[in-house]
Amino acid sequence: MGPDWYCDEVIPGRVDVEVLARTEHTLAFRPPLPGFGTDHVIVIPTRHVASLLDLDDDLAVELLATVKKVAARAVDEHGGCQVLTTLGDEQHNKHLHWHVAVGAGVARFVSRA
Ligand SMILES: [Zn+2]
Repeated sequence: MGPDWYCDEVIPGRVDVEVLARTEHTLAFRPPLPGFGTDHVIVIPTRHVASLLDLDDDLAVELLATVKKVAARAVDEHGGCQVLTTLGDEQHNKHLHWHVAVGAGVARFVSRA
């Protein structure tokens, strides 16, 4: 287990982040250091959930609604976005988080056509 920046810093308000949406159990914010070399928003549950595989159904609905709100705004403002979460060895912070990313830095899937 690595450090949990979301539980340690973001949820208690110990770090300054730009909050874009908040519900009873979810938070969407722009992190101070953007990842992917692009603009992106992070969406998290505000209680600890290790990963998508540990997410219960009730919170899944609320969390996906917040992801949807942020993604709709990204599509409006930028014409498109990428929504992803990581798991296992690909997940560096072991607190479930979704990225809603726009711009040149998003992962591109290569067409085999
Ligand atoms: Zn956590």
